[in-house]
Amino acid sequence: MEYTETIRQIISRYDLLKDKYRSKHFGQHFLCDQSLLDKIARCALPFDDADIVEIGPGPCGLTRSIIGLCKTNKVYCIEKDYTLEQLHRNVLDGVSNCHIIYGDALKIIPQSLTPSKIIIISNLPYNVGTQLLINWLLNLRNIERMVLMFQKEVADRICASPCTKEYGRLSIISQLLCRVEKLFPVSRLAFYPQPQVNSFVIRLTPKNAEIKNIDNLQKLTQYCFQHRRKMINSILRYYYNESNIELILRKCAIEKTVRPEEISPLKFLELSQYLDI
Ligand code: SAM
Repeated sequence: MEYTETIRQIISRYDLLKDKYRSKHFGQHFLCDQSLLDKIARCALPFDDADIVEIGPGPCGLTRSIIGLCKTNKVYCIEKDYTLEQLHRNVLDGVSNCHIIYGDALKIIPQSLTPSKIIIISNLPYNVGTQLLINWLLNLRNIERMVLMFQKEVADRICASPCTKEYGRLSIISQLLCRVEKLFPVSRLAFYPQPQVNSFVIRLTPKNAEIKNIDNLQKLTQYCFQHRRKMINSILRYYYNESNIELILRKCAIEKTVRPEEISPLKFLELSQYLDI
């Protein structure tokens, strides 16, 4: 499909930079380089028979790239800023496979939009990016993969290895449930208006791993990373009633003197199965 207007022209025609409220409350920092947007969308291929869910289409730069790669796939976009409705109607005029839902992505379960498998693609708004990812991780049913752009520091935490300062709860839950790949950085200079921070595109592919008691794991990692420099033995003794903490650690082959930041995601999972909240 040929588009007559560039994203920059759309932004200026609809005066999207008029008030700072938009960038502050909706995280509206737009990418205008269509080749960069195409590159992000291509990272989510193959689409096969999945439908696509995009969070925050804004002026539709990424949406256009996604549509350009679709065959019979449908595209569902969730946009919180309903004042963009007229823009969407005009920009997507004649596009029949794209539906915009106006609402808060934090309150909409992506699987409720279609019975098909889904691929989530988004240049996420910074202020809700982490919470959205956690929501999706806790319900990965029908999600084939996710290609997401985050603030670089958040992407670093998602992909971090043990023994680094970025390693923590987000790394553990993300890596237990998904294969995570850091794809490429996006400079803050690529956005319009420019944010204060740089970004990174990552891909998460669900592993179909089943975590039996995710609440146990969440609590354990919460306790541990509140005290990331303390020894695991003393953290567990403080929070759990179990009299046999040392035995449990031995069963999991975890040294009692190691610190939470040294324990791998799989070891955390194993440990959580022995400890009740
Ligand atoms: N997709 C465009 C791009 O790549 O240039 C815009 C991305 S901009 C970083 C984030 C978009 O998410 C904005 O359009 C904003 O209005 C929207 N947004 C912010 N918070 C949202 C939420 N809670 N639910 C749905 N959309 C949201």
